[in-house]
Amino acid sequence: MSETPAQSIGIVGLGLIGGSLAMDFKALGHRVLAVARRSETCQAALNRQVVDEATTDLSLLQTAEVIFICTPLAAIEATVCQLVPLLKAETVLTDVGSVKAPVVTQIAPLWPNFVGGHPMAGTAEQGLEAAQAGLFQGRAYVLTPTSDTPSPALKTVTALAQSLGSRVYQCAPQAHDQAVAQISHLPVMVSASLIAACEAEPNAQIRSLAQQFASSGFRDTSRVGGGNPELGVLMARYNRESLLSALSQYRHCLDQVTGWIETENWSVLERSLSQTQQARPAYLDE
Ligand code: NAP
Repeated sequence: MSETPAQSIGIVGLGLIGGSLAMDFKALGHRVLAVARRSETCQAALNRQVVDEATTDLSLLQTAEVIFICTPLAAIEATVCQLVPLLKAETVLTDVGSVKAPVVTQIAPLWPNFVGGHPMAGTAEQGLEAAQAGLFQGRAYVLTPTSDTPSPALKTVTALAQSLGSRVYQCAPQAHDQAVAQISHLPVMVSASLIAACEAEPNAQIRSLAQQFASSGFRDTSRVGGGNPELGVLMARYNRESLLSALSQYRHCLDQVTGWIETENWSVLERSLSQTQQARPAYLDE
């Protein structure tokens, strides 16, 4: 993590992402003002000393210079509508929602000093208890400015994201949504379907043996399918078109593999597996 001048940073929604941001920004010397939905969450954040102030009242954020909206996707617009009358015009607003086109379309008209954002980091856990320091270190942090986004606001959010140790990227909201459909939302549906396919095994003895034999390969391939169901539904609801297009591409690939196995076309199968073996490293930062 690197230093930026100390600022007053507001965070709305103290869950996995909001709580992790609060920890890092506080460690970097910023003043962290947090607004949570439940007073228990505020008290837990104060007890863990991950924020300077916490309340359920959005008016705490009147003095914040930059505000990160870290609620579930479905609550972002309503939160910003409540915030707008409280803020100074120069306050920079950003969000962390994992789908960008609908959020940018909703929020940019409400608050011109807004920069859409998505830190590409997470775990299968949720809530403040799951928050961890350094979660964004070495991870991609995507910003989705439009031609109307003021450049000082973009600079401010870029510097804060870089200070977390993230690699900051910029692209159009729609391009972000298409890319994350392929590498984040499609894998959730594929991984969940993998677990469902194992569960659909009609022979109880085989299913029980499979559960006992499952090892690291199954752990890796089932991890994202075994995560938070609410988040999975939100991804599908908010990124429906891009996800449907990625699923259709995936179905085509599965049909091809099925065809090669049915026709015992081992040489084509091997060529395809060699190509995917070579392609994989480009998607990973290992
Ligand atoms: P989370 O752990 O479930 O936390 C969500 C927080 O939002 C909770 O603290 C909750 O407050 C608060 N909240 C829930 N409903 C609300 C409402 N109607 N109004 C106001 N606050 C509300 O979720 P998360 O994983 O941090 O996700 C938050 C955002 O980050 C989402 O937009 C998601 O798309 C994005 N994101 C998630 C990941 C990931 O892997 N999880 C990665 C990148 C981005 P209380 O605790 O007070 O109930």
